[in-house]
Amino acid sequence: MKSPIPDYLHHVLETARPNEGGAAADYIETLANADTSKMAICLSMVDGNVYSAGDDKIEFSIQSISKAFVYAIAIEDAGLDQVLSKIGVEPSGDRFNQLSLERNTNRPMNPMINAGAITAHSLVVSPTATLDQRTERILNALSRLAGRQLHVDEEVYQAELKDADRNMAIGYMLKAAGIITCDPQEAVRGYIRQCAINVNVQDLAMMSAVLANAGVHPVSNEQIIPQTSVRQVLSVMTTCGMYDAAGDWVSSVGFPAKSGVAGAIIGALPGQVGIATFSPKIDERGNSVRGVAMCQQLSREMGLHMMDASHVARSTVQTSVSTLVEGEHKTHNGSCKREVVVFKLRGAVRFPGAERLTRALARELGQPDPLDEGSGSHADACGIVFSFRDVFSLNFIARRLIHENIARLLKEGKVLVIIDPSEVLEWDKAKAKDGRHPKVVDNEKEARDYIGGTGCQAVSQDPEW
Ligand code: GLU
Repeated sequence: MKSPIPDYLHHVLETARPNEGGAAADYIETLANADTSKMAICLSMVDGNVYSAGDDKIEFSIQSISKAFVYAIAIEDAGLDQVLSKIGVEPSGDRFNQLSLERNTNRPMNPMINAGAITAHSLVVSPTATLDQRTERILNALSRLAGRQLHVDEEVYQAELKDADRNMAIGYMLKAAGIITCDPQEAVRGYIRQCAINVNVQDLAMMSAVLANAGVHPVSNEQIIPQTSVRQVLSVMTTCGMYDAAGDWVSSVGFPAKSGVAGAIIGALPGQVGIATFSPKIDERGNSVRGVAMCQQLSREMGLHMMDASHVARSTVQTSVSTLVEGEHKTHNGSCKREVVVFKLRGAVRFPGAERLTRALARELGQPDPLDEGSGSHADACGIVFSFRDVFSLNFIARRLIHENIARLLKEGKVLVIIDPSEVLEWDKAKAKDGRHPKVVDNEKEARDYIGGTGCQAVSQDPEW
């Protein structure tokens, strides 16, 4: 079967193509001469599968999209506290190249406008680093994100440098305000070089997919950006990424995004997909006209708005009961009914999934409540099994809540077995309270053997057990 997804992306492309609004950015000569008939769209799933349509190999300068990634690099090199002391996180409502600073603090309003981006650039490597050191650091980091070696487009760099008065003015403003400490011309030249790095939509979709995938590269599986930085970057992209159209964007498209004056837009929907579009004509706010239209269509038709809540939390726990038939050892006590209760979780478990498990444990293993039929139904079980075989991940609060459940059940004297072949539970023996531990095994057979004795059989309502 041929996948319908590339066909759909072609359809999105052709729907936006007749829109002749906007014009190529004219303040950088090379961009003013861009071929405005070129268009492309690309999706990268968080497992690295890529779909694209249109001129997906055409290269263009990354421009302001670099700001999102260089912000992450600045956080890594200078630390979040230092970055926050120099750059705010409030949407400015101003144009991207406004000469403005936050009242009282003198900080640029956010890292997505030029003043903030030049400051972030100056924090890369160290405030005393040279232009070449910063450029090399940024090129390497962006290449790693894209999964191939990227290069600076010298023509774009020279063209922008020629008319860089406004950005130079921003640089001097930052120096005068004590926000940057290095030579302002050096910081601005470095920033312009970072903007002149060439990419195509496939590079950008992959880079966005790293953000969508909590900082882990979808192909190499390496943690490239720490998760806390990803959260910071995506938050700022959400509120400030689309220049002064941020509010419009969040309500009509609803995923964190960043655009650049060469006509590209990236979007990153956490846990789902990285998106990139390209079409050089931009509107008066600096956003690609066809790119915005394509993102709006994708969001509408593919349900990508981040406020569209899903219902996954409702079906993450499944309870089943098995009766054990004698094995080699008879480890049962007289009242246990030889029943084993299996609680199975699935997927990427967060607080709502862990809460469902907690609720099921408290209800089914606790004392019967006459007003709640079914409560206390497994209070006498001879063994309890948590199966995390189909759990992809536990976030920190899900793990913490489940650890607490385990500690309480062990304290009550329950026999507890955890099936956890991928070790998502991260039960740390050293830290466990009271020295009590559950038995952690790799599969159902080991769990059965532990509870019922080697070779015991389970008569089960659940075919997997
Ligand atoms: N290099 C461009 C500038 O500073 C980037 C602007 C943009 O893409 O929004 O003017």
